[in-house]
Amino acid sequence: MQTIKAAVCRAFSELLVIEDVLIAPPGTGEVEVTLDAVAICHSDITFASGAWGGHLPAVYGHEAAGIITATGDAVGDFKVGDPVVVTLIRACGSCPSCAGGQPTICETPYDTVNGPLRTADGGPLEQAMACGAFAEKVVVSHRQIVKIPETMPKDVASLLSCGVITGVGAAVNAAKLRPGQDVVVIGAGGVGLNAIQGARLAGARRIVAVDMTEEKLEIAKEFGATHGVLASLDQPWKAAFKALGGRGADAVLITVGAIPAYDQAPRYLGRGGKAIMIGMPHSGAMSTYEPVVLAALGQGVVGSKMGDVVIQRDIPWMIDLYEQGRLKLDELISGRWSLDQINEAIEDTKTGSAKRNVILFDKS
Ligand SMILES: [Zn+2]
Ligand SMILES: [Zn+2]
Repeated sequence: MQTIKAAVCRAFSELLVIEDVLIAPPGTGEVEVTLDAVAICHSDITFASGAWGGHLPAVYGHEAAGIITATGDAVGDFKVGDPVVVTLIRACGSCPSCAGGQPTICETPYDTVNGPLRTADGGPLEQAMACGAFAEKVVVSHRQIVKIPETMPKDVASLLSCGVITGVGAAVNAAKLRPGQDVVVIGAGGVGLNAIQGARLAGARRIVAVDMTEEKLEIAKEFGATHGVLASLDQPWKAAFKALGGRGADAVLITVGAIPAYDQAPRYLGRGGKAIMIGMPHSGAMSTYEPVVLAALGQGVVGSKMGDVVIQRDIPWMIDLYEQGRLKLDELISGRWSLDQINEAIEDTKTGSAKRNVILFDKS
């Protein structure tokens, strides 16, 4: 066991505590990654609020990049010194979902309480989301990581681990957009901006961003939205129909967890359109819709976890597109912080117009 610094959640809805914790060496199929950067995702904040339950104490953080500093046996081509991104997709590779090409919904449970982390006195410490990346190091499965170019900045690369693959993947993998289709993206935050980028990459004809402020709608246009609609309008879908030439969208990508967004999403759909559920509401929250409309108009509502991504397939092409200037990543970062500042960075993510706040470990 090594001692590292981590930001620990000891009680829901309270500040994270920077403390020394213990981390085990990598076992079979696992690697140790010393982190350079970890971004703060709304899922971390939702977990820390207690809205999804889970064990305490816990280390959150799941959008990370760093360098492999140790490996167990059977880790494929990975070796010490490789720069990698670390995702939360700990897929077994052999269950029916994995074998069917959907590792994001792997069916093999992983015991996060008995993972590599322990408190300084040897007590249980949850490796939340099979990652625990609000810490100087993680020990994860080699199936959760993807190599990145030596030259790629780690703060930028870390965004690929969650927000970017979730948003771009929702457009490309879940909605399976074709060139010329019309898209509505509800929410222009970290995931929404990437859903907009994904729709643009897929060749969407018109991309309507829906959000609460004009400021967010302007940012959405920088990422490829062709139109913006304020969510605060009475029946905002009518403004979207107008932008789409009088018809509804082929796909609506719901990138926020707010229930009003879920309730309204089918209203934006055209005939045969699909609403893709991406943002994660709190456990127990319910949404309503009118089934007869969906049935009569051949519409659908479908969930998408982590952009239905296959990280080994999808992250490499996203890196190429970034390097070609076709996928914006630098522009997603709105703040850089040290681990000691993590509570401030979280507060800024909750309240401000922040896109992504990133913790840099060499600043600590
Ligand atoms: Zn995330
Ligand atoms: Zn599996």
